[in-house]
Amino acid sequence: MSRDLLDDAFTRGNRYLSEIDERRVFPDDEALSALSGFDEPLSWKGEEPGKILEMLDDLGSPATVASAGSRYFGFVVGGSLPVTVGANWMATAWDQVASSAVTSPAADKIEKVASGWLLEVLDLPRESAVGFVTGATMATFTALAAARHKILSKKGWNVEADGLFGAPAIRVIVSDEVHVTALKALSMLGLGKDRVIRVPTDANGAMDIEHLPELDDCTIVCTQAGNVNSGAFDPISEICDRAKRAGAWVHVDGAFGLWVRGAKSRAHLAEGVEKADSWAADGHKWLNTPYDGGVVICRDVETLYNSMSVSAAYLREIETAAQNFMPEFSKRARGIEIWAALKFLGRDGVDSLISGCCDLAKHFAKGLTDLGLRVHNDVVINQIVVSWDSPEKTENLMRAVQRDGTCWFGPTIWKGHNAFRLSVSSWKITKQDIDLSLNGIDAAMKSIEK
Ligand SMILES: *Cc1c(COP(=O)(O)O)cnc(C)c1O
Repeated sequence: MSRDLLDDAFTRGNRYLSEIDERRVFPDDEALSALSGFDEPLSWKGEEPGKILEMLDDLGSPATVASAGSRYFGFVVGGSLPVTVGANWMATAWDQVASSAVTSPAADKIEKVASGWLLEVLDLPRESAVGFVTGATMATFTALAAARHKILSKKGWNVEADGLFGAPAIRVIVSDEVHVTALKALSMLGLGKDRVIRVPTDANGAMDIEHLPELDDCTIVCTQAGNVNSGAFDPISEICDRAKRAGAWVHVDGAFGLWVRGAKSRAHLAEGVEKADSWAADGHKWLNTPYDGGVVICRDVETLYNSMSVSAAYLREIETAAQNFMPEFSKRARGIEIWAALKFLGRDGVDSLISGCCDLAKHFAKGLTDLGLRVHNDVVINQIVVSWDSPEKTENLMRAVQRDGTCWFGPTIWKGHNAFRLSVSSWKITKQDIDLSLNGIDAAMKSIEK
């Protein structure tokens, strides 16, 4: 019975993925209104499991966004490599508590191997600690908790024990175009999202080093490897050199951009990033693993351990347990998908995945310019910021394309301009998909001009 049920789930999931490119990217109104079918009272007796999966598939599947398909360019959303979906299904069947080798020797081993491979492919200090967190938000949160620990312990303050009330002040420097989730991390850490110093950015959205304040040993600099709109890289190498002299901590938010370090043609953009103290990256964006797969990397193992470790009478175990390097205690074995992606791709595969998306983004940007649209950014990696003649036309075009369903992308504000943003982040996207999308955009423009 449970076997038939899971076979059914597998068949439905498989069918969903095999049909994904024949459907609209964003669901139609009919699928959206059918979602009201979920509005039902919680029963007393429970229901038959087969029926539950059927309902999920009948009502849920059509109302999903086809971001796992090949014409989704919204936010920075990658698809999932089939091997990572398979690994996820296997690991779900295992249902391991991936906190330590005591709760799961297999998960512990695989995540440790994945950690080593990650440091290799990203070319970061091999001695660093790695934690498999839910996403880049939590990765930055974790890294900044380590930074907070380091800075305050140097001043003789134990922040984990005594909190921040009365502690020496920590100064935080961010880019004026900092990702909102880094601010969220700062707010959750008690470092405050409004007391940061914001450094102005250049034309492509990278921190302007001329405006970087003097650094000292009470300062955290939060840099970006990949501006979420333009893909621009802050001058991290130079920032690290200055930070090293001053004793400041440099964190790199490389949610998607950090992966260019695995691409020969683009690695120069992130040169010197290895000199930082901590890094945040996402598997679920550009490495194309399923959601929630983020990674925190911290050069100073002991500092991360001191800020995250727990002890309890029933936890007489291994210092290297995952739970000592990240906020989560019980967690699923999410490093397995990253392991599977890296094992499948190899270093050459990571290179072609990342370089391929960057090349397609260039092709896309040229096509958009040819249609008479304005590309605002220097398309250094996979991100394109675009607008039409006026804010109204830009908005109307975006809505028309979303309605048409051929592809999907969303709005942004770029240097005060209303624009839309396209991200080429999936293994599934081909040149034909870009051309089909360009045709859809062209048709939408014509229908608006009429
Ligand atoms: C997506 C993103 C984040 C947040 O990552 P999550 O995985 O959604 O938590 C942070 N920074 C940048 C630059 C991003 O693109």
